[in-house]
Amino acid sequence: MTDEMAYDVAASVVERGDLPLLGQDPRRTYRMGIMGGTFDPIHNGHLVAAEQAFDDLDLDVVVFMPAGRPAFKQGKRVTAGEDRYAMTLLATSDNPHFLASRFEVDREGITYTADTLECLASIYPSNVEFYFITGADAIAEVVTWRDAHKIAELAHLVGATRPGYDLAHAKHAIAESPFEFDVTYLEVPALAISSSYLRERVAAMQSLRYLTPDTVTGYIHKHKLYGVLPRRYGSTVIVDADGQTEGRRRGEQRTD
Ligand code: NAP
Repeated sequence: MTDEMAYDVAASVVERGDLPLLGQDPRRTYRMGIMGGTFDPIHNGHLVAAEQAFDDLDLDVVVFMPAGRPAFKQGKRVTAGEDRYAMTLLATSDNPHFLASRFEVDREGITYTADTLECLASIYPSNVEFYFITGADAIAEVVTWRDAHKIAELAHLVGATRPGYDLAHAKHAIAESPFEFDVTYLEVPALAISSSYLRERVAAMQSLRYLTPDTVTGYIHKHKLYGVLPRRYGSTVIVDADGQTEGRRRGEQRTD
């Protein structure tokens, strides 16, 4: 490795924050998966999709990046970024090639994928390729995202779907785009699970066992996310969709 080619590892650590160290050997190409999503909450479908992308696309690492203020969710209720990041960290902590990053959660303003990819491209050397992994529904909309041409230039896209999902809309949108997107679609049976299904189950006090790691379930209950608010003295207040509350005696709330 010549001096010119050498990657300044010490300097990059400062810029990288919690992002992985990649690109040190200029003789090879590195593939970094970026798992983009709101993760409200993260579930086993996301984890299986990321593992499948890791294997199928021969990635070096998958970085789960909860969106700070998701671009298309303005005016909608989204759990605090700090909670979504914490659940993502818990869910990914036992997989050696998964990482959770605060990169978007800590950024001011609305989260735009093009901004994220530009920042990453400025941090990493050119032998690091980016694979932006998200739901195929989101990929179908990518042509309408801010600075879509930059996304097409800077990253490969990976659209994860459940079996039976009709990809015609996504494929048509990509084909009609003036920009050259490189998209791979992955069929992931576990994506029958969705974050909204988990939120509904928590609000109905139903079990989340086998739908998300137990550590995430514990976090949801401990921090009273998604509509269940334990009171201090022996009862629980349930907040329904209209914001009304009803009392409940201790012991009636499922905690698993
Ligand atoms: P969304 O509209 O909430 O999700 C669309 C569908 O994709 C849902 O079925 C969702 O299921 C699924 N999904 C989301 N992330 C996934 C993932 N990583 N793997 C597998 N399935 C996933 O999408 P979103 O969460 O707001 O946004 C997804 C990503 O696209 C984020 O990184 C976001 O920042 C980016 N985005 C960027 C722009 C922009 O730059 N203008 C606009 C929109 C989105 P679950 O609900 O179960 O996750």
